[in-house]
Amino acid sequence: MHHFQYKNGQLHAEDIAVADLVYEYGTPLYIYSATTLKRHYKAFDSAFDGIDHLTCYSVKANSNLSFLKILAQEGAGTDIVSGGELFRALRAGVDPKKIVYSGVGKKTVEIQEALFADILMFNVESVQELERINDVAGGVDKVARVSLRINPDVDPKTHPYVSTGLKENKFGLSRADALKAYALAQSLPNVEPIGMDCHIGSQLTQLSPFMEALEKLKEFHGQLVQMGIKIKYMDLGGGLGITYNEEAPPHPEELGKALIESLKGLDVTLILEPGRVIAGNTGILVTEVQYTKTNEDKTFVIVDAAMNDLVRPSLYGSYHRIASVREGNGEEMTADVVGPICESGDFLAKNRTFPKVAQGDLLAAFSAGAYGFVMSSQYNSRARAAEIMVEGDKHVLVRKREVYNDLVALEEDGLACIGRLKK
Ligand SMILES: *Cc1c(COP(=O)(O)O)cnc(C)c1O
Repeated sequence: MHHFQYKNGQLHAEDIAVADLVYEYGTPLYIYSATTLKRHYKAFDSAFDGIDHLTCYSVKANSNLSFLKILAQEGAGTDIVSGGELFRALRAGVDPKKIVYSGVGKKTVEIQEALFADILMFNVESVQELERINDVAGGVDKVARVSLRINPDVDPKTHPYVSTGLKENKFGLSRADALKAYALAQSLPNVEPIGMDCHIGSQLTQLSPFMEALEKLKEFHGQLVQMGIKIKYMDLGGGLGITYNEEAPPHPEELGKALIESLKGLDVTLILEPGRVIAGNTGILVTEVQYTKTNEDKTFVIVDAAMNDLVRPSLYGSYHRIASVREGNGEEMTADVVGPICESGDFLAKNRTFPKVAQGDLLAAFSAGAYGFVMSSQYNSRARAAEIMVEGDKHVLVRKREVYNDLVALEEDGLACIGRLKK
């Protein structure tokens, strides 16, 4: 359920006509719905009301400060994967006691920053990382709370690039290695193992992989109890999928019921790290048709949004529903929707049938709230799009459109650089 609907033949973001926002801010333009965001968070979080739990929104799905502020106000914690995401979460007012820090490559300075912020815990992915966290914590006279990320070797049945819980993936520790790592953690003075963690993948559309992973974690939990390790937190990661096209992922309510049932009798706080399911359908990317052309028997709609703005179709072959901002009159066309970038992989949609559009018309790519703007780049020296947050009939520009100066602002001026190389 989201708040991008047609009224009087015009696509609206909540109560504002998308075309009006484009008139003011231009294209390409990301538009988010605050009401949808809050609703998705509440629907997810309340699905676990029957059990001690903490919902840690995965910042990487959409890290705009407005997202983080809205979610922090709703009481959400965050799952971060870098020092930059810690900075954003703190800036947005997220309670540090609700921050968990995941990721395979934490640098010393990032560990220090997280220790100074006094976050809830580190999700540790290797023995060397555990040793580094212990050293860094010792250096600043702190004890770091840690979970070890266990790779349960479960097939999430999703795209290979976003599968993370198979034994060939780079994430986490095998169960055998994790046991040894817990023993090591117990013996180290500056880390305290308080949790277990896993995250098996993204855009999961079935319940069974979650349940399979939880079964393996529970079994492992039993072994830890025997070792005298008291686990307070069971972190099952994120990964619940959304509907882009015809997928029918389980509703959070269903996941909640099943997990609560499975965790009965276990004295742990459940942590969840949802990203896509919270953010995905809160946003659209609006783009203007520049040209249409037909080569042989193929029609192309060339728009001003490209793979630098929304890379998911190019990277994963992902589907985003494409619709015309002005409701069609029934006439349809079948075309590839492509951007201006000099790569044949630059497309938003292939062989798609949608209401006929012409030069100057606006198209919207739906479900662009997660892994959309955050994955954008300046490739082909394209300034990044603006982002708007809408609530009811109000809107705020939450990130300005970049300008040409932003493209070169951090670069050494060409001539000065050449002058210095000569010396
Ligand atoms: C990406 C990621 C998430 C969020 O995944 P979604 O599929 O967006 O819910 C959660 N936890 C970790 C460790 C991640 O890497």
